[in-house]
Order: sequence, then C-alpha cells, then structure tokens
Amino acid sequence: MIAPRVQEAALSLAEAPAYLYDLPALDGHVASVRRALGATELYYAVKANPDAELLRVLARHVDGFEVSSAGEHAHVTALFPGLPVALGGPGKTDAELRLPHHRLHVESPNELRRLLGTGLEADVLLRLNPGLAVEGAALTMSGPFGMDEDGVAECLPLFGDRVRLRGLHTHLASGLEAPELLNLARTLLDNSYEEVNLGGGMAVSYTSETRFDWAAYGAGLAELGAGRRLRIEPGRALTVYCGSYVTKVVDVKRVRGQAFAILLGGTHHLRTPVTKGHDQPFTLLPTGKGPEVDGPVTFVGQLCTPKDVFAKDIETSVKVGDTVVFEMAGAYAWNISHHDFLMHPKPAFRYLAA
Ligand SMILES: *Cc1c(COP(=O)(O)O)cnc(C)c1O
Repeated sequence: MIAPRVQEAALSLAEAPAYLYDLPALDGHVASVRRALGATELYYAVKANPDAELLRVLARHVDGFEVSSAGEHAHVTALFPGLPVALGGPGKTDAELRLPHHRLHVESPNELRRLLGTGLEADVLLRLNPGLAVEGAALTMSGPFGMDEDGVAECLPLFGDRVRLRGLHTHLASGLEAPELLNLARTLLDNSYEEVNLGGGMAVSYTSETRFDWAAYGAGLAELGAGRRLRIEPGRALTVYCGSYVTKVVDVKRVRGQAFAILLGGTHHLRTPVTKGHDQPFTLLPTGKGPEVDGPVTFVGQLCTPKDVFAKDIETSVKVGDTVVFEMAGAYAWNISHHDFLMHPKPAFRYLAA
C-alpha cells in the first residue's frame, strides 16, 4: 500500500513516467535502522541507488558509504567530502587502489601486492569468501568475490607500517533474514580480528509487507560484537521502500484471450521485475476514462521485446488512462536498467521533500 502523500503526488504529476522518491519516508526508515544498530557502524552500499537526493538523506544517519568503483568514489566524495568511504569491489585498477579511503576492502593476495607497490598508506580489511553454506539466500556471493582462508594466510605476512591490516570484510549473500545473518555472523566472528564488516544482503520481500527485523539483528550484533568494532553495509533494505515508478496505461487489449495493459515507459526504466523474475508490486489509481480490460491482466511496457513485463496475470480491471504506481523501486531499479534501449524518453525524477 502506498502512503497517502505518495498517492497524492502520483496523481498530481505533470508527466509520466516518473520516479517519485519519498524522502521523509527514507529519513524515518534509516533513522530507525540506525537506532536499532546501537554501536554497530552503518555504511550504505551506494550501488543500490546512488541518487544524490537519497544520499543526502542517508548521510544524516550513516557512518559512511561503501563504494565499489572510481565512479561511485568520485560521486560520493564530491557530495560529502568529510564522510568516511570504504572502497571495495573485485578487479580494482591501480588508479582505484590509489584513491583515498577510510577502509580498503582487498579482494586477493595479488591485489594486496599491487597496493603495496603504490607505496601509499592504506587501512585494509581482507575480504573473506568463507565458503559457508547459505540457505535461503536470493543470491550467494561465492565465486570470484574475496579470498579463501589460504588467500588470507598468504596476505598476512605482507602487512607492515604503511599498509595496515584492520580486520575482515565479508558479504555473503543477499536476501537473508536476521536469524540467518546472525548465524553467519556467529561463525565468522569466531576469530581474533578486532574489526569486522559483515556486509549487506538483508532480506527484502516484494510480496508481503514484512520488513527485515532490524531490532533483532541489532541486538544480536551487540551481543556478538562485544569489545570489537562491527560494521554492516546494506543497500537494498535501506532505500528500496522510498522509491516508486509512476506511469500511465496507454493501451489495453486482448490477444488470443490474454489481457494486456500497455504502459508508458518500460523495464528499461525499471529492470527489477525482469532481473528478479517477480511481479513488481503496484497500486492502480483509477484515473482512466478510456476502454477497459479485465481478468488476469499482464502489465507490459513500450519495448519491442516479450521480456518487457512488469507483472503477469494480475486479477484486476484496467482502463486506458489509469495511473500505475510501481512500489519498491528505490533500489536496484533505475540505476541497473538499460535506459537507451529503443530511445524512448527518460522518466522524470520527483522528490517529496524531507
Ligand atoms: C551489493 C553489496 C552490498 C549491498 O547488498 P544489499 O543486498 O543491497 O544489501 C554490500 N556489500 C557488498 C560488498 C556488495 O557487493
């Protein structure tokens, strides 16, 4: 369900499609996450959504930003020169290894050797890929990310005065609930490192109103982390709820029995339902006066590809001119989409003021 102020804003938009960001909602959500975490440090993983207006709200609450490219680094340090930055990502170039940072997440022994070769100072967390079985995750970050225990052992003798080992970094999976994440944390914290970054990946449900249990996670981390410096770096679970993609129905039809609503824009603006293979949740506002279709309706965009589907076989009735507000479009939405495909106009971007 969308908030009344989002509905009101969606109805008064002069243009469609448009991204609508609810900044007061983001502010309230991140403030409550911050409170639940106590002494655990909170960084925001910028790759989830680097929109500057969102970052400005996040910057009031987070301890720093996690960036994974020179581009994200330049973006964030230009906006917030004073805020700590943790720089990660596989395949860092020599230029990226030279960027100023609060923490550098090193992904391999060879990367560490290249870092040493720069002669610069650095505070390093080694990214561990612990090969733990992760049940119930949407996406497991195994494969090329980080290093195994042998890789860590190879790194340890290389550290010195200029390049300092601060601790471990991990990011194991995406889509985990608090008890699973705490179990993983318990296994990982079975070491002597004083500082550990446990990554992001908190579960986000696109089919129910349930949200990640930050209170339970924060309390569990407080217990596990006693005497150490713990940090997490969520992306999706912080920003996903504050964004909507608002558009209009431009045509309705029935083709060989199947009902379709064709919307302005498409998944080149909101790729999330295609990448996740889900129906993007939405609210239909009955602003239309045109022809109608009903029954199970499939919502598609303007792209000339059968993959351009937002939601399939939804029991509803739709009129040309209706307004469709796709919810949960605040993370991995616009910034992961293939904007230039077919050269349709870009959406507008509107912000409800904080
Ligand atoms: C993607 C990523 C995150 C954020 O993951 P979410 O699922 O958006 O919380 C955090 N850390 C690293 C290293 C990542 O690659």
